[in-house]
Amino acid sequence: MNSPIWMPYTQMKEAPTPLMVRSGRGAMLELEDGRQVMDCISSWWVTLHGHAQPEIAAAIAAQAGQLEQVIAAGFTHQPAEELARRLTGRLPFLPRLFYSDNGSTAVEVGLKVAFQYWRNQGAAGRRRFLSLEGAYHGDTLGAMSLSGRSLFTEAFAEMLLPVDFVPFPQAWLGDEGVEEREARALEHLEGLLRRSGEEYAAMILEPLVQGAAGMRMCRPSFLQAAEVLLRRHGVLVIYDEVLTGFGRTGEFFACQKAETRPDILCLAKGLSGGFLPLAATLCAEELYQAFCSGDPRHTLYHGHSYTANPLGCAAALASLELLEKEDYRFREMEDWHREELAELADHPHLRRLRVCGTIAALEVEGAAGYLHELGPRLRQRFLERGFLLRPLGGVIYLVPPYCLERAQLGAVYRCIGEVVSAEVSS
Ligand SMILES: *Cc1c(COP(=O)(O)O)cnc(C)c1O
Repeated sequence: MNSPIWMPYTQMKEAPTPLMVRSGRGAMLELEDGRQVMDCISSWWVTLHGHAQPEIAAAIAAQAGQLEQVIAAGFTHQPAEELARRLTGRLPFLPRLFYSDNGSTAVEVGLKVAFQYWRNQGAAGRRRFLSLEGAYHGDTLGAMSLSGRSLFTEAFAEMLLPVDFVPFPQAWLGDEGVEEREARALEHLEGLLRRSGEEYAAMILEPLVQGAAGMRMCRPSFLQAAEVLLRRHGVLVIYDEVLTGFGRTGEFFACQKAETRPDILCLAKGLSGGFLPLAATLCAEELYQAFCSGDPRHTLYHGHSYTANPLGCAAALASLELLEKEDYRFREMEDWHREELAELADHPHLRRLRVCGTIAALEVEGAAGYLHELGPRLRQRFLERGFLLRPLGGVIYLVPPYCLERAQLGAVYRCIGEVVSAEVSS
């Protein structure tokens, strides 16, 4: 196709012609040629309530007719104030909120706040960061630095900040090795902290679920133990809840499910219900206070032209309204996943079945790695059957919109079982 569009995460030389989408409704997308496709991954994990959700669409339209945008320094507006109050109200230990416009910038803000926090207090020796192997925190340079070194970061290695990585203790259903993996990861972390604890500004973690790594899941116990170690050495804790926020893990936020208390928390993706780019970085009071000073050098010099965009805030408020009214939708999905995963437990080619709230994943035996050729082949077969799934190599995962019905979820799992049987044995 002769389009000027250079697509994200796409080798354009081999890219199949993109599918033209005409409209969306609930979990379904309608293509220009009339085909119906069920969106089982919430269009890159953002579409919380389904496509074109009428209440959110109406809230945006009403806001657009009143105030579409205003400079965010020196001015504010009702939707931004109310949204900030409601988000910080849900996480009272994080009473300050900084707006930006996507997950990468939410992480960038968290990274800069943590770094400058120490500098403002004259503890400029705390310059390094800790992260988890396999992490993904976004594509801007700071966020990329905090991400696990991989094919994605390889070309930019020389541009990245120094970061030390701790193994991620992955867990799955029926797994018996997790305790040992947790112990080893914590030992590794403790070793780093004992050696150079005073050099670290913060550790960033994707709590409970590492998204881009292939929906790898860990237990709350690991997050709790890591937090104790980090606190002991005065290292700040940043949670990247860009994926896990807003019900994805079965609770409103993963930190609540894990019963942990980060100092900084990053939100984006589902924040606006998947309608508009909007992000927020929440901070503990102590961090905020370290920037309030008579010295202009203590100011957080960061901002974006669309900071606290009123349309995004209005969409987010409407989305929150839906989440609160229908929270059973994200709370009950884990049971559905478990029932379906149990049906696939004896599948000859599937292993490491796992679930956390609304997110589930399974791996095709012997197809490790993001570039494994099976990924695109499976994606094509799923699409032919009317399902949008985007395996990460041999990892098939589901991140459905919360409007998905029980029977629809059953149909996705049946399709997965059949397609994997056909593709792997052939
Ligand atoms: C998607 C994602 C990001 C980056 O968000 P963008 O809006 O794509 O910049 C950061 N962290 C996590 C955990 C993500 O899943």
